[in-house]
Amino acid sequence: MKSSSVKELLSMAPKLQEVTVNGWVRTFRSNRFIALNDGSTINNIQCVVDFENFSEDVLKQINTGSALKITGTLVESQGKGQNVEIQVTDIFVHGNADPELYPIQPKKHSLEFLREKAHLRIRTNTFSAVMRVRSALAFAIHQYFRQNDFHYFHAPIITGSDAEGAGEMFKVSTLDSKNPPLTDDGEVNYKEDFFGKETNLTVSGQLEAETYAMALGKVYTFGPTFRAENSNTSRHLAEFWMIEPEMAFYDLDANMDLAEDFIKNVINYVLEHCQDDLQFLEKRLLDEEKSKPQAERSDMALIEKLKFICENNFRRVSYTEAIEILRNSKPNKKKKFQFTIDEWGADLQSEHERYLVEKHFKCPVILFDYPANIKAFYMRLNEDGKTVRAMDILFPGIGEIVGGSQREERLDVLLDKIKALGIDEKELWWYLDLRKFGSAVHSGFGLGFERLVLFATGMGNIRDVIPFPRTPQNAEF
Ligand code: ATP
Ligand code: MG
Ligand code: MG
Ligand code: MG
Repeated sequence: MKSSSVKELLSMAPKLQEVTVNGWVRTFRSNRFIALNDGSTINNIQCVVDFENFSEDVLKQINTGSALKITGTLVESQGKGQNVEIQVTDIFVHGNADPELYPIQPKKHSLEFLREKAHLRIRTNTFSAVMRVRSALAFAIHQYFRQNDFHYFHAPIITGSDAEGAGEMFKVSTLDSKNPPLTDDGEVNYKEDFFGKETNLTVSGQLEAETYAMALGKVYTFGPTFRAENSNTSRHLAEFWMIEPEMAFYDLDANMDLAEDFIKNVINYVLEHCQDDLQFLEKRLLDEEKSKPQAERSDMALIEKLKFICENNFRRVSYTEAIEILRNSKPNKKKKFQFTIDEWGADLQSEHERYLVEKHFKCPVILFDYPANIKAFYMRLNEDGKTVRAMDILFPGIGEIVGGSQREERLDVLLDKIKALGIDEKELWWYLDLRKFGSAVHSGFGLGFERLVLFATGMGNIRDVIPFPRTPQNAEF
């Protein structure tokens, strides 16, 4: 007989039909009630066993974590919180999980403990909820772009350009690192490498995406990117996924409109399609918050927070206005927001960003028109000659979630900038070609997928929203 998923069964009417379901035991109470989960939903199906009908050998293999195939009759449930349950007639044990050895027992494990068990932590309610939301968000992202006439473009992972990621790139080489071929000057001779030059793992698909936007109009990449940043924060990974739309004929305003609409749309998708998981994650957070002092508790529950994002405009503020606000703000007495910002031109630190979002505006903020000298070479210079058409989107509890800009479309201005920064113009010949042949205003942004997942799930650490986090010293499997 065809088996059903737990999700399907839970939505069925108890018409006394025979059903089969495969899954893993979450709990087995009183030798009678199996809570079975197959990953299709956060909810378990209750399977009621008359133990007189089963051998001791089968019953002793029904442990938390065991994989079972259960056949029985779908009946109305007497218990609370579920409509249906299975009156079990047959049990097949695919595989047992020895309770003495299996680490994921039905108790609350710390996230730190579970990080050590990255291959098994997905069997907990918390991680399965997070990863289902992650999967739904990825779908919503593709759907949004498809509905808005974007083409999905695959940027290369191995790249020869390093204009953007000075110092933050992972090198890719087929040379023997212990004994590499050398040039006459004693440098590593990458000409003998498989790629014939020094190559890196990409830090962003943007420059390549620009080439596609200048022919397909609206494109996006959604793929892994890599940064060898040796920082141990709760917001940075060495391998993360980035969503990068790039649009011909879009200026900065159109870019900001798109980014805001996009984020609202995908958050709205999970609000509509991941209700059970979000409710579970919200409850988990509320329980966690109970142990915190009142002042540190969040003033909105998770689902309310997500709805707030969808229903309210993001606040658009120029860098210059932001600096004014920061200068005029009295440093908060609590340590959290102590800072000084004296000079126009300084890069904002995360405490400045958090102050603007969490204390001053109390909503997502789009900061735009940054000083040229703190932003990348390709950003469109404003008429003031000092600022560029850059934008960062800052989110409560997360900080920067998006970085984007209108790109410099004028060849002469771009060349001046490249020269001033000492970038080798020959390395970028292909990028400069875009400004020689049919150049036009264009814009795009990069959104860190894991930061979006962090926000949507209310989790506190980026290591807990990606299956196998890559951080310094952490790549066991
Ligand atoms: P941050 O200031 O947080 O280090 P950034 O300005 O270096 O970020 P960008 O180069 O602007 O990052 O990249 C675009 C987006 O990618 C960021 O807004 C962020 O959402 C995400 N991102 C950047 N670095 C990381 C990282 N190491 N891990 C996860 N996401 C990241
Ligand atoms: Mg960074
Ligand atoms: Mg930044
Ligand atoms: Mg940035």
